[in-house]
Amino acid sequence: WTEGSQADADNSLTELAALAETAGSQVLEGLIQRRSRPDPATYIGRGKVDDLGAVVLAAGADTVICDGELSPSQLRNLEQRTKVKVVDRTALILDIFAQHAKSKEGRAQVELAQLEYLLPRLRGWGETLSRQTGGSGRGGGAGGGVGVRGPGETKLETDRRRIRHRIARLRREIKAMSTVRETKRARRSRNAVPAVAIAGYTNAGKSSLLNRLTGAGVLVEDALFATLDPTTRRATTTDGRVYTLSDTVGFVRHLPHQIVEAFRSTLEEVAEADLVVHVVDGTHPDPQEQVRAVREVLAEVGADRLPELLVVNKTDAAEEETLLHLKRIWPEAVFVSAHRGRGIEELRETIERSLPRPAVEVRAVLP
Ligand code: GDP
Repeated sequence: WTEGSQADADNSLTELAALAETAGSQVLEGLIQRRSRPDPATYIGRGKVDDLGAVVLAAGADTVICDGELSPSQLRNLEQRTKVKVVDRTALILDIFAQHAKSKEGRAQVELAQLEYLLPRLRGWGETLSRQTGGSGRGGGAGGGVGVRGPGETKLETDRRRIRHRIARLRREIKAMSTVRETKRARRSRNAVPAVAIAGYTNAGKSSLLNRLTGAGVLVEDALFATLDPTTRRATTTDGRVYTLSDTVGFVRHLPHQIVEAFRSTLEEVAEADLVVHVVDGTHPDPQEQVRAVREVLAEVGADRLPELLVVNKTDAAEEETLLHLKRIWPEAVFVSAHRGRGIEELRETIERSLPRPAVEVRAVLP
């Protein structure tokens, strides 16, 4: 459902489809319903559920993905009515994060987010959900029932207790790991090495830009969320000063709050930077909306106080008209193509100019 304009809904659905493909699904059909708020029982209107059922049947789909967060009962009702697995945007994003987390810390953060999502949804019908969110809940007591039957209450209580224990343990582990990172960061700041954080909507070209600026060889993927574990590289200014460049978690609209919570320590690292290079995809249908979504997350971790340098990327593929429009609304932005290398020198110079100058030490030499 949507209460926004048709264009907003289309963009959001296109993005949802891209997310689903990133997660390894093949997207068959899209369905939009305009209404002022979701139906409390079935998310989309009750009549619309029949349409959805017909679409599922005709397309031979095995999953329905909703572009929003479903309550546990909405999810259950939709699954019962459509007879296929139902996933919401949050579960989908969590799934992608799970596939992409590589570092020990990243994996722990994703598991924490998944368990927090799962816990309130364990309701005896947990079987489908626990399978879908990585098998952390052992909802298998139903012995092969078709999703609706679940484990008994005692089993559920044990599951909940186990999950709570695991959550507490993951929190401790993540805290310990972030302490190690803080120590490293403190060492960097003692050495007065300025830090530049590359932030931006997912798929905007952060990794490509990091590669361009440092020749780093970071994995670039045409997939949402290729970047999950932050990469830090050293770069040198033309006058020989060293600074660091890091890319960050890809941002996305409606980033589940469990993710923001779990990745807080990683995101907060952005807040320690001296400069945020905010990369925008010039080929996106609504770059301003992307910028808003990224700034929202930046504000949530206190990184909105930092100097921000807007960089519009993919000028090689963007419409001339769009670029002119963006130049008007963001006169300070630097326009680049990470692919072609266009504008990269100007970007490098702008970054260098924006870096804090090292404090000059003056020592008087006494005779
Ligand atoms: P990230 O998720 O922000 O790190 O984005 P990536 O660097 O992984 O790039 C996402 C996609 O955009 C990849 O398919 C890149 O090849 C593509 N891309 C990045 N920079 C450019 C560019 O300057 N022009 C074009 N046309 N595509 C780009």
